Formats: sequence, C-alpha cells, structure tokens
Amino acid sequence: MDLKITQAQLPGCSGYWDVGIIGDRIAEISPSISATAVQTLDAQGQFLIPGLVDGHIHLDKALILDRFPAVDGTFAEALQETLNLKQSFTIADIQQRARRVIERAIAFGVTAMRSHVEVDPIMGLKSVEALQPLKHEYAWGLTLQLAIFAQEGITNHPGLETELRQAMRMGGDVIGSAPYTDPNPKRNIELVFDIAQEFDCPVDFHLDFLDNDEPLLLPLVIEETLKRGWQGRVCLGHMTKLAALNPKELAAIAQDLQAAGIAILALPITDLYMMARKDTHNQRRGVAPVHTLAQYGVTVGLATNNVQNLFTPFGDGDVLKVCTVLAQVLQMGTATSHQLCLDMATTHAAQCIGIKDYGLNVGNIADLVLLNAESVSDVIGTAPSDRTVIKHGKVIVQSKTERHWLKPSAS
Ligand SMILES: [Zn+2]
Repeated sequence: MDLKITQAQLPGCSGYWDVGIIGDRIAEISPSISATAVQTLDAQGQFLIPGLVDGHIHLDKALILDRFPAVDGTFAEALQETLNLKQSFTIADIQQRARRVIERAIAFGVTAMRSHVEVDPIMGLKSVEALQPLKHEYAWGLTLQLAIFAQEGITNHPGLETELRQAMRMGGDVIGSAPYTDPNPKRNIELVFDIAQEFDCPVDFHLDFLDNDEPLLLPLVIEETLKRGWQGRVCLGHMTKLAALNPKELAAIAQDLQAAGIAILALPITDLYMMARKDTHNQRRGVAPVHTLAQYGVTVGLATNNVQNLFTPFGDGDVLKVCTVLAQVLQMGTATSHQLCLDMATTHAAQCIGIKDYGLNVGNIADLVLLNAESVSDVIGTAPSDRTVIKHGKVIVQSKTERHWLKPSAS
C-alpha cells in the first residue's frame, strides 16, 4: 500500500475510517486497515471528501478587475469593457493569471477543472496557445480539461469555424459556444455538434443565461443531442431561465433533460450578480434550480465561472465557498440537501464533465481532500480553510491556518 489515511470521518458514515491507496486508486476503505503503507496520514478525526471539481471556469479572463474596476457595474459595461480588455491579452499574461488561479484552486482541493478557452475574432488562438501547456505543467495537482469556446457567436464571424477546428487540434478536449450571442442560434448549435462529431468530443454550451422573454434555446440542444446520439456528453452552464419556470414547466423540462442525458451546472456567483438587473423590487435570484432538477434524476453540479472580472467581481476559485452560496440561495438547509450540495461540488460535478471513477469508493481515483470539519453540514456551512489535498494518491498540499491571539494584558 502506498498511502494509508487513518482515523478519518467520511460523508454518510458514522465512526472513524481508514482509507488505503495503491498507486492512484483507492484500494480499501474499512474501520481499520492492518496492511502497512509507505506513507501514513493520521487524519485525527478530520473529514475526508472527494476532490472538488470545478466544471466551469474561465482561466483566460480571470483576475482582470484591477485593469478596469466597474464604473456603473452593469451587464452592458461588463460586455463592452471585457471585449476591450481582451484586445490587450498576451499569451504570457493569460498564463500568469491562469497559474495564479490554478495554484490557488489546487490548494483549495480542486483536483479537476474544465476551463473554457475563448476563440473569437479578438482572441484568435491566443488562449489555446496559453492554456494548453498548463494541462501538462499542473498534471501533478489538477486534471485540466479545455473547452474551446466561441464566446462571440459563430455564424456572424466568417472563418471562425476553421479556427475552432484548429483550436481542437491544438489540444481542445471539448467544444462549446454561447448560442445567445449568435444571430442564428440554431445554426450555431448545429455547427458545435458538427465539430463535436468530427472530434468525437463532449459539448458544453453557455445557455439560456439572459433574463429576457426570448424563448428557451434548450429544446434545440435537446433535439440535437438526441439526433446525434450525444447523450451523456452534453453539459450546459448557467440555465438561469429555468429559475423563472413554474413547477409544471420545470418538471417537463427536467424529464426531457434526464431522458437526453444532459447535465446542468449552476453558476450562482455570476448569476446572482448578473441576473434580474431590470427588477426594481422583489428582485429575482436567477440561479438554475439544480436541487429540483436532481429530484428528476438530472445530472447537476455547481461551479465558479468567472473569478474577479466585470462579470463576477468576486471569488477566489474555491468551489466549497460556491457550495455555501448555492445552499443559501436555493434554501438547502437539511442534512440530505447538504449532502447533495457536496455531491454537486465533487462527484456529480465530475459526472457533468465526464470524469469517470470519481468519489470515495474502492477502485476510484484517489483524488481526496481532508478538511477540518465535523460533518457534511459543517463542510457546507463553513468551507474550512485548513485542507490537505491528495491528487492521484499523493499528498500534494497541506494548508494550516496560524492564529496568534495577542490578548491585552490583564493589568
Ligand atoms: Zn462561463
């Protein structure tokens, strides 16, 4: 045995447990493992969870808030000024910001991540060139997927299809777009599926994000998914419009999503900030109701999306903090719903982005995080900062908060 974690608490189990790891896989989980190991990690009663999974992040436009702090904080400003800022991005600049986000994420216990990579007339292939080498550079701590992302539409930019294919050849793992930015969303969706079929890869759309009265684009994606036989390989981010449906409408859509094997990732930090800007009172929340979708068997998760830019002037890449926000906004207060929330940040998020053999079971990948917490509710409620991270069976980070009490003297 290569690594033995002793005396850990596990989600859904009472008492203390040992977890044995051989190579990069979990080999044994039992109250007491007698086999010796090369390395032993005494958990001292800490809580062991699967590694966090950030299934939707934008490394290439993270950490740019200092370049243009919000003046009026509107959606229009975010769109316009981000476009302007993108023109000054260089490969070295993208890499430097991406490394900061990745290193923090690894320290938080994020062991897998899907980053969208913008390919548009402004960025060209710059983001792919910048981020592709980081997959290998950080493989010791992070499984990084790159989703080639047509942020500014496809049919409105002649030649972009060719660039998207080139980006896939350069190291894209997934293909996607934001069809609502395209004058022909239907064709946009079809073109993305065409590329997915050519490269035999998953699809990831930013979909039904805006809070206008335009009809949902989701039926078009469901139709293409079924037509192309892409069930289990399609993930949708945002889906904020689902929050505006009545229970009957939502139930019908949930059943269609489940039947088509389409996964949904809620992005609460961005969506709470960006949605319902026109509401003058009784402001809507605009976060995809993933807890309800889960009841219909839809694969659902949560993710960070943007980190400190005009679309989301918050965040540090810690998926557990997003978990806390989601539990609050969707009013998930029971122990059972806290477990769902943790699953949405770990095993369910892994399913959303097609990572297999993930979670605390024998035979699965040994991507784990040890937290200073007492229970799942404690994990969700406090997002503890002291974390030990295990990637592919190796302990890679141990964070410990130092606190010095400087009490005034009694006299
Ligand atoms: Zn996004």
